[in-house]
Amino acid sequence: MATALDIAKLDSRTTSPVARDAAGIEKTPDIAKVTPAADARRSLVGLTREELHAALAEIGVPERELRMRVTQLWHWIYLRGIRDFDAMTNVGKALRYRLAESFTLDRPEVVSEQVSRDGTRKWLLRMTSTGPLDKGAEIECVYIPESDRGTLCVSSQVGCTLTCSFCHTGTQRLVRNLTTAEIVAQVMVARDRIGDWPGAMPPDGAREQGLLPTEGERFVSNIVFMGMGEPLYNLDAVTAAIRVMSDNEGLGLSRRRITVSTSGVVPQIERLGAEANAMLAISLHAVRDELRNELVPLNRKYPIAELLEACRNYPRLSNARRITFEYVMLKDVNDSDADAHALVRLLKGIPAKINLIPFNPWPGTRYECSDWERIERFSEIVFRAGYASPVRTPRGRDILAACGQLKSETEKLRARARMMMEAGIGAEGVYALGDSAS
Ligand code: SAH
Ligand code: SF4
Repeated sequence: MATALDIAKLDSRTTSPVARDAAGIEKTPDIAKVTPAADARRSLVGLTREELHAALAEIGVPERELRMRVTQLWHWIYLRGIRDFDAMTNVGKALRYRLAESFTLDRPEVVSEQVSRDGTRKWLLRMTSTGPLDKGAEIECVYIPESDRGTLCVSSQVGCTLTCSFCHTGTQRLVRNLTTAEIVAQVMVARDRIGDWPGAMPPDGAREQGLLPTEGERFVSNIVFMGMGEPLYNLDAVTAAIRVMSDNEGLGLSRRRITVSTSGVVPQIERLGAEANAMLAISLHAVRDELRNELVPLNRKYPIAELLEACRNYPRLSNARRITFEYVMLKDVNDSDADAHALVRLLKGIPAKINLIPFNPWPGTRYECSDWERIERFSEIVFRAGYASPVRTPRGRDILAACGQLKSETEKLRARARMMMEAGIGAEGVYALGDSAS
């Protein structure tokens, strides 16, 4: 097996190849000379077409050229993945010089990279600081290779304001929304790290060892918003990010391969379908309100009946575009035969897939994963009722990358939040301390 599996080594926060990579844009000497302090320049990576348009206008690109320039930059950034303005061979030298003066093509810093025995990769990313009080929030992003696809699990928020009792992320109280660029940048980093750009090389031996998909041309073919955060609490940024990810002249991911998972923010579900046209996944986890209130406290605001009504009305719902219902298997909590039968009854009439997720434990949790025989029995009842009921194989458990195990090690952020509270400094739109939505 690859030495890459030596997790202890890979977890080092000072992993030098990563640091080099993140900072390692090679610049031609003349551009390097005029480059002001790095922190004065904004990265263009992750911007929408409109944002790119505005950025170019800002540095004086004439109005009549703007469209063409956006198209050119879009191609280089999102189709080719280049990291140096000098590689933009169809952009004149003078403009390349001006671009490098004001902007970068930097990605978020990769603080650590872990590779699981099963090929799952988890990156801890540090976002660029948004102001004096923000030293750069940290989020996690997970890549899951299978033979016929590569799924990237992206985060939509730093932490999560909701407090689902079985979820590790929910215990991280310090929260802010990610920007569109920060969401898109996760795809960029993943493609950088696994060599998924035209002409790039995958990590040594990764394909041969089954650590990357063996079929298809793309290593990142699917996106799931199942990392940290509740995507429907950041829907504008998520929708814009999906627009960038699915743009055919750039990243080109099919919207049918982009799934947004929600714990049930009912008023936003319709908008997700209408505006983002993404696939929907619902974190159901219980068939009775009493239990769901406990597992997913948001249920007190939007109970099961309302949630399922929103699902029935999901735009373009059909047998070809089913809703995925996620159901985490918690021993002696929600895993009885009666629960399985009730689940089937509840979903009657909704084109649905049911995804059973073995509970992934994390330090300090009070839950246990159901026994394997129980999960199989539950799955069988659901299957007999006519639903596909795949049990999601836990991936990357050895590196705490599996569902619900994500939680960035942001002790520094917490300390700062405490300090800010004690000093009576408001969150200033950068960090809001989480409230449970119950
Ligand atoms: N906030 C969104 C998306 C992120 S969570 C949501 O809740 O849907 C992604 C999935 O992982 C959800 O279905 C969530 O319920 C599930 N999950 C959370 N903690 C888990 C755990 N410890 N084990 C297994 N699945 C978990
Ligand atoms: Fe937030 Fe989803 Fe975790 Fe609930 S399961 S706390 S909504 S990330």
